[in-house]
Amino acid sequence: MKTEDYIRLENQFGAKNYKPLDVVLERGEGIWVWDIEGRKYMDCLSAYSAVNQGHCHPRILKALTEQAKKLTLVSRAFRHDQLGPFYKEICELTRSHYVLPMNSGAEAVESAIKAVRKWGYIVKMVPEGKAEIIVCANNFHGRTLTIVGFSTEPQYREGYAPFTPGFKIIPFGDTEALEQAITPNTVAFLVEPIQGEGGVIVPPPGYFKTVRDICDKHDVNLVLDEIQTGLGRTGKLFAEEHDGIQSDLTLVGKALSGGFYPVSAVLSNKEVLGVFKPGDHGSTFGGNPLGCAVAREALKVLVEENLIENAQVQGDYFQKRLKEIKSPHVKEVRGKGLMIGVELVPEAKGARRFCEALRDKGVLCKETHENVIRFAPPLIIQQKEIDWALERIESILMKE
Ligand SMILES: *Cc1c(COP(=O)(O)O)cnc(C)c1O
Repeated sequence: MKTEDYIRLENQFGAKNYKPLDVVLERGEGIWVWDIEGRKYMDCLSAYSAVNQGHCHPRILKALTEQAKKLTLVSRAFRHDQLGPFYKEICELTRSHYVLPMNSGAEAVESAIKAVRKWGYIVKMVPEGKAEIIVCANNFHGRTLTIVGFSTEPQYREGYAPFTPGFKIIPFGDTEALEQAITPNTVAFLVEPIQGEGGVIVPPPGYFKTVRDICDKHDVNLVLDEIQTGLGRTGKLFAEEHDGIQSDLTLVGKALSGGFYPVSAVLSNKEVLGVFKPGDHGSTFGGNPLGCAVAREALKVLVEENLIENAQVQGDYFQKRLKEIKSPHVKEVRGKGLMIGVELVPEAKGARRFCEALRDKGVLCKETHENVIRFAPPLIIQQKEIDWALERIESILMKE
């Protein structure tokens, strides 16, 4: 079968809720992927940061296959020998008290919403049914109904009403708006440290320090969605470290499994996740032996292979070199570590055509928000590989 044949099958039988680049991949290794016709590409998206450790990382692959031969799923009706060690290792690494394992990122967000609401009723004594959560405009927290209900992206919401009430939307990066939005019934502020899907939007310096103070002053939980920014992507284990703060709840997913398998988690101080009693919440696959074994190894790889430091060093280099490209199409280069956005001027007529041209040169990346090209290669990338990509990026940005 040829590329067109695979595309035809997808179009014939699949729901068309995606518009992927027309490349049909069959194999990946490290930062590289190959299509079915043998062409090689550098992956500069990393499945939206799920493949921070690189494709098919041998150590994680080994953990997966070894665990798959032993035990994969028992449900949480029984205990198993991967869960306790996973809990201990992730809590020690992230300095958390408690962890709640789930599968997808959206499930981690939903779980956090349930936890902070329950905390509001039990601990903060908010009147029943009145709990409020503040979120930011231009957010991305996933695709479940509750979550798209507080999205400001019209297409994510259209046709899906009615939505879950109890959310207030304020501008991202605006601490005054946060303070004004808080009422005695506010239980949490849910926010991304850097808005990824929103176009790699970095808030003003000092924003999160002030946010932390405001949340403390009003007894509001700061819930950081680090599903994309976390686990090394920005050059720190968590992006919150750039601001020298600690969240009350941190959400992780994506790279928690190195891209092998959906594993997500809510990490918290004791008080918030401590509100759950047996039966309050659950998931058949959440915390399963296979997922735990994969996540344990994925975290060890991040630390032992110094991927977090590498993301900082290579990210600084990549950004510096991108800024040196004097293209009339580029408005701004921004980001932290290896989470990089290149915003194009409106006259450039959209980022998509640049992504398609880059694909033809062997660099895979994806536009976000019409005018932004996002570069987020696996954190194992080395300088000579960035140079290889830059040569192609520069030629496309200068020529097109
Ligand atoms: C990807 C993402 C999610 C949703 O994760 P899924 O696994 O796709 O449900 C939530 N928040 C952020 C910041 C993300 O980047």
